[in-house]
Amino acid sequence: MLPKPPPREGSLGFIYSPPFRVQGMSVAGEATCVQAPELDVCFDMGACPRPMLASKFAAISHGHMDHIGGLAYWCSQRVFQGMGPGTIVCDARLERPIQRMMEGYVDLEQQVTPYNVIAMAPEQEIDIKNNIAMRAFEVEHTCPAFGYVILEKRSKLKPEYTDLPQEKLRELKASGVEITRRLEAPLVAYLGDTSPGPWLVRNDVRTAQIVVCECTFVEPEHRQRAGIGKHLHLDDIVEWLRVLECRTLVLTHLSRRTNMAYARKRLVELVGREKASRVEFLMDHRANKMRYERQLDEAERAEGRRIEGTRASAVDTEGDET
Ligand SMILES: [Zn+2]
Ligand SMILES: [Zn+2]
Repeated sequence: MLPKPPPREGSLGFIYSPPFRVQGMSVAGEATCVQAPELDVCFDMGACPRPMLASKFAAISHGHMDHIGGLAYWCSQRVFQGMGPGTIVCDARLERPIQRMMEGYVDLEQQVTPYNVIAMAPEQEIDIKNNIAMRAFEVEHTCPAFGYVILEKRSKLKPEYTDLPQEKLRELKASGVEITRRLEAPLVAYLGDTSPGPWLVRNDVRTAQIVVCECTFVEPEHRQRAGIGKHLHLDDIVEWLRVLECRTLVLTHLSRRTNMAYARKRLVELVGREKASRVEFLMDHRANKMRYERQLDEAERAEGRRIEGTRASAVDTEGDET
């Protein structure tokens, strides 16, 4: 009898929550990398599937191998593919260890891979695009760990000036009066591995349009294990959903054993169908495929024509083991 060929690589998780795509892979202990292509950012780089190369920033939540295993490769491939040096954004406590890792590769390869590191302090912000900033904040895990939130920054006319004519406004501005105020709109929040704590209810996390977060344990009997590993349990997510305002909560970092249908069923039991409808599981390929096809149908109805080319190839469920 012939031996079986190896299993096909699993496809990437994909969720479109307009106007942002969230894509990548995430299995607890194995590998996590989550990309928001429209924002030019990957969160974590536990592995480096090809699409991750296109983003210029890799924001690292913590140093566990399942979150940084593909980081050196990502830096190297970006340069090899002519995409320019990548920029690693990390907790300042990780800066030296990451540099040492990269130095190790210089010894191994006898060549230097250029890359940038931005070492962040808690609450520090960096600009990643025009009017778009990324802020780091501290969370709690078994090693130093950060979460990130991407914010749109706008200036808006102060209410007392909204009725004034343009000419008058120009005059005021020229005379040094501050006629605008800075507003920030949180777009995407990312929490890597973390235990529950006040960082879950920060204003910028609570009001982000999309929240991507780990949920390592689902079964009721695994509550204690979540506590020991400083991870979130589905019960924590249930409580959190009471105050989260996001349009979409994307859950990552479930274990390979977790059956996605069971996880969703359990969530619906705990929070009801309506609240559960805001929650997506990054690696639930079957549900995500159905969701995307619904979005395609809606777009086609709105445009009054068939949108070709994306339907069959968009999400491949091969390799879905749940
Ligand atoms: Zn992890
Ligand atoms: Zn971890």
